[in-house]
Amino acid sequence: MMKIQNCPVSSYTLHNSSVTFLLFAHYLRMMTTKDIGSRMKTEDERPTPPGFRSLTSFTLKKTKPNNESSNLAGIQSDVDVEKLQKSVKRRPWILNDQPIDLEEPNNKHLKTVNISIENNLPKGVIRGGSACSNSPKVMPGWLPEESCRQVIDYSPFFYPTEEEFKDIYQYIAKIRPKAEEHGICRIKPPESWKPPPLIIQGNKFESCRFGTRVQQIDELKDLHSKRKLNAIIQRENLMDSDHGFEFECGPEFTLRSFKTHAEQFKRSYFKKQDIFTQPVKQWEKVEGEYWRIVQNPTHQIQVLSGHNLEAKVLGSGFPLPSLDDNQTEYMKSQWNLNNTPNLPGSLLAFDRDNSALLTPRLDVGMCFSSICWNVEEHHLYSLSYLHSGASRIMYGVPAKYRQKCEALLKKNFPELSGHRELFHKLVTQLSPSTLKSEGIPVYRCVQHAKQFVLIFPGAYYSGFDTDFSISEKVNLATLDWLPHGQLTVEKYSELHRKTSLSYDRMLIEAVRQAAKSPWDFRMRGWNNACGKDGWLTRALKSRVRQESIKREFLCDASQSRKMEEGFGCSVKRECGVCFYDLYLSAAGCACSPDKYSCLEHSKQICTCPWSSRFFLFRYEISELNLLIDTLEGKVNPKLV
Ligand SMILES: [Zn+2]
Ligand SMILES: [Zn+2]
Repeated sequence: MMKIQNCPVSSYTLHNSSVTFLLFAHYLRMMTTKDIGSRMKTEDERPTPPGFRSLTSFTLKKTKPNNESSNLAGIQSDVDVEKLQKSVKRRPWILNDQPIDLEEPNNKHLKTVNISIENNLPKGVIRGGSACSNSPKVMPGWLPEESCRQVIDYSPFFYPTEEEFKDIYQYIAKIRPKAEEHGICRIKPPESWKPPPLIIQGNKFESCRFGTRVQQIDELKDLHSKRKLNAIIQRENLMDSDHGFEFECGPEFTLRSFKTHAEQFKRSYFKKQDIFTQPVKQWEKVEGEYWRIVQNPTHQIQVLSGHNLEAKVLGSGFPLPSLDDNQTEYMKSQWNLNNTPNLPGSLLAFDRDNSALLTPRLDVGMCFSSICWNVEEHHLYSLSYLHSGASRIMYGVPAKYRQKCEALLKKNFPELSGHRELFHKLVTQLSPSTLKSEGIPVYRCVQHAKQFVLIFPGAYYSGFDTDFSISEKVNLATLDWLPHGQLTVEKYSELHRKTSLSYDRMLIEAVRQAAKSPWDFRMRGWNNACGKDGWLTRALKSRVRQESIKREFLCDASQSRKMEEGFGCSVKRECGVCFYDLYLSAAGCACSPDKYSCLEHSKQICTCPWSSRFFLFRYEISELNLLIDTLEGKVNPKLV
């Protein structure tokens, strides 16, 4: 049993995650002492707010159990020791006199892993003379009697009317209460909505080339990731592992030649002809075979995929919007994925220079091309449209089961436990039945041609193609995404993971616009943005509360100055240590004019004395509070 010394605990009860609570109590006490005005005098005297890095340290010692004299008596059974140890370990200002036996995310641990990476299965796909041959020999491999059909429920399926289909964000808001609890859903546009099939005709189809990746389906359960992890260990450099788990590059194709390749593969693999004589629910047989290969492989099965192709590779499958007056219906359509993230109602539009997020991407697949379990970056919405080809089978897990799903993926890949920074790069496939057997609900979503699939914030998803298909996808952010947005930027900073958007910029720009013209904002369909309980109000309050604690305890007011307006506008500024977005505040030092950090990491910029640090604030806390008051209707927007 552990007891924290030098800490005023007597009047507090200890609960789970109790160290955090104790520190908070400690911090509250510090705030109410009379000498609060002098707390900035020296670094050592500065208290540390809950959850933040150290400015002071105290020692954690093991004491003999003594239930009678201890204030912690009687509640020992409530304390999750493992959780407590981890909680303590993450707070570096607590010094342990006994080493806590936790797995450390470092190379030393990696080296101790004994990984078996041999694949002795016979080859089911044999490539020609050179590695880049486009016509491999495919053995018939289908074993229908060993099919691993997944017994799971379907996700909801929506058929909007023409009227409902006009406003995409209002429609998403309408279906969200029913659909979000499934993590994923399918939307069939009205019959009259038929965008021209640009992608399967002309130059784009015949001559534009794209690169593929080689996916070895029999290794997706864990072998691929193990081999990649081994390669990272050989290089002994985790920083090189940014793309460590990606699939190897395959040959280049045109859409026409890839379609031929895909059709040849499927015909050879499913040699037993009856699969082709049953076009209805043919995907069911492919699904059973896919999970059979993943779970009980008998041969090495390599397929190719062209996933996540940037717009510059093949362009978009939708007609591009033009600036002249001759826009066709489909150029203007809100469901044209080139328009969707830029519409009023989309928060991504406020991060306006972020072309990577505002531009849709294409997926080109063949039978068994796989999307392994993952969550969208920043837990954004994802909307995809299947332009042409065979059905794609997707699986979704509701966001509230995300942590359970993550824990299960880790359990199935113990070599990586403790390597949180590598975990999001895993390329691992687990069957929906396995997830279901662990109490995690999984829903199947069979996307047919000309249909949309919407994935909700924070939902884990995976999937695969059943034959040649071309689909297009884009990320979205609506008001209800805001809590996910704040959560992910904090989590990414903890993991020292790069962000791909500026949450603060999106939030503040949206708030400023809402404060200036609330009527215009309501016209966007954002009726629930403002007011005391509005999405924007709550998100801004939460962010300002966090920011003001950081400024109070991590900065010196006398060293702060106004951030220049252009700071971070042309190039996004990030913390040099944790990549935290510096839109709202930054720390710097006179010695390094181009080096900035977040407020938490200001000590790590350089070794100069504390007095040479400066802090840049885009807005004073009082200005941010004025914005909150305006959103709540307490202040006339004209004053802002
Ligand atoms: Zn940082
Ligand atoms: Zn310096």
